[in-house]
Amino acid sequence: MMSYSLHLGRLFGIPLKVHWTFGILILWIFFRNLTIGGGSSQALWSVFFVLAIFVCVTLHELGHALAARHYRIRTRDITLLPIGGVARLEAMPEKPLHELWVAIAGPLVNFILAGLLALLVRYRPNPQDLEGIMTITGHNFLFNLLMVNLWLGLFNLLPAFPMDGGRILRALLALRISRHRATRIAATLGQLLAIAFVVLGFFGNPFLVFIGLFIFLGAQAEAEFVEAQWLLSGYRVADVMMRQFPTLQLTDTVQDAVRMLLNSQCRNFLVLNDGEPVGTLSRDEIIRAISENKHTAPIEEVMNTHLLRLSAEQPLPEIWKFMQEDKHLAPVFEGQQLVGVVDPENIMEFIMIRGAELKTA
Ligand SMILES: [Zn+2]
Repeated sequence: MMSYSLHLGRLFGIPLKVHWTFGILILWIFFRNLTIGGGSSQALWSVFFVLAIFVCVTLHELGHALAARHYRIRTRDITLLPIGGVARLEAMPEKPLHELWVAIAGPLVNFILAGLLALLVRYRPNPQDLEGIMTITGHNFLFNLLMVNLWLGLFNLLPAFPMDGGRILRALLALRISRHRATRIAATLGQLLAIAFVVLGFFGNPFLVFIGLFIFLGAQAEAEFVEAQWLLSGYRVADVMMRQFPTLQLTDTVQDAVRMLLNSQCRNFLVLNDGEPVGTLSRDEIIRAISENKHTAPIEEVMNTHLLRLSAEQPLPEIWKFMQEDKHLAPVFEGQQLVGVVDPENIMEFIMIRGAELKTA
């Protein structure tokens, strides 16, 4: 989803990207307006208008990002997609009131923009040119931008988690009940609304179909994540780590790794040098090396050297967060001593077992 994006620069230190499909949107609007007979100046006004909308969308996302920064949460980047913008925060604030502010900040920006535009706009549409208002001209440009900002603010306030309104709802619920139950309720409502969007979209606006799918999957992913965090709470790395695990030496070759892969149940291997972990090698990395004809290459050339070093005492919810990003095997230490390994599948199994236990309890 986030790949194939063009880097536009930085805003307040946050990378701003635009997805390639955005180019299609601009071309589509240009040619559509040409063909409906407005001429090229009309088509250019429409493109200019869409770009102005996306400036507003960027400011909306920036609102979230700066509110999050206030609570010391960093934003990885802001990406513009044809269906809107996404600010990827490194974490979601866990305190309900903080989440509330971060969620409100986006729509608030649109309402402020609408207010500022209202001061500038001279144009007032007559009831009889409501038809004409759909065609963007220099005349009604600012007025339409004002309306779009009102619409953006209101649309985002719909309680369709993980949209802003849904986050606000979860935050409000979480003031009263536990966060994971609040998430469950908000996500269920979000998915119901998402289905309604898709159905409505089929009868009219195709963008609504995409937005619906986006919300549906987003709600699912976040609900699962919060559920997992809850199931893992109170447990430490030591509770799930594997104490017995096969290892490879730095000087072994890819062929040795293949043999090890076939001879064991494991799919991820720790690579040691003098007993010290220096990297990991996964099944996929082994297969890739073979497909590149690197049978006799030393492991050092093909392994992943980015090691996530864990301590046996670390709480699991925290680790699970890291492992969403870095899906590699991680060595576990007690002090300076290597005592085991953990991989994402390990923790996933633990989550499923805990979930099953709670259902029967
Ligand atoms: Zn937003």
